[in-house]
Amino acid sequence: MEKFILDEGRMKSVEENYKRISEEIKETAVKYGRNENSVRLMCVTKTVEPPYINKAIELGADLIGENRVQEYLGKRDELNLNGVEKHLIGHLQTNKVRQIAGEVDMIESVSSVKLAREISRVSSLKNIQSKCLVEINIGKEESKSGIFIEELEETLYEISEMPSIKVMGLMAIPPVCGSETEVRVYFEQLHQSFIDIKAKNIDNISMEFLSMGMSGDYKAAVAEGSNIARIGSAIFGARKYF
Ligand SMILES: *Cc1c(COP(=O)(O)O)cnc(C)c1O
Repeated sequence: MEKFILDEGRMKSVEENYKRISEEIKETAVKYGRNENSVRLMCVTKTVEPPYINKAIELGADLIGENRVQEYLGKRDELNLNGVEKHLIGHLQTNKVRQIAGEVDMIESVSSVKLAREISRVSSLKNIQSKCLVEINIGKEESKSGIFIEELEETLYEISEMPSIKVMGLMAIPPVCGSETEVRVYFEQLHQSFIDIKAKNIDNISMEFLSMGMSGDYKAAVAEGSNIARIGSAIFGARKYF
């Protein structure tokens, strides 16, 4: 990693962006007949250096999302995480489960039964219960992980038998779409499954969180019932990968 030099201009824009996005999420919720506090704003902090993340936290951010286990564990000591919820949102390999179970408040990227089984197994050994979301590959894209919507119910019944994992809802990243109308179809489909599954009252499965929407499409997601908007670049600026 290069030597870190604080960029005051970037710090200022993080502040402006955070305030603006918080407001826009509230306004969008209200526009679609929802309560202004019905959507949680998650600050997605992958590749972002701790001072900028701490700025968002200082302004009221109470939920952060990290993609990589190593990156999160490596930088969390520099974060002011008091009262802040941490979610893992990136692809998780079964061999990393041991390192992350119990270190975050939720794993949003449970993309297979096999991964769920490993999370439950490791969590049992640690005497904890891991809260999770099931990741749906809503556009059936080869480049993305997650289960297909047709497999959701069966998958949930399987996971519901596992003792130390608790499914709290669904997460998805839709395909890149050319228009808001197009992306809303995916979000609507996901919301409908969320409602259908909730109505089935499956033991040990709760449908509380519907995590959908990112910088480019969060308004469409909020319109279609999202209650966690995962925002990275619109707050912290374009990512530089290192
Ligand atoms: C990076 C990422 C986001 C945020 O993406 P932006 O377009 O920068 O807002 C949201 N969800 C997941 C799973 C991500 O990996």
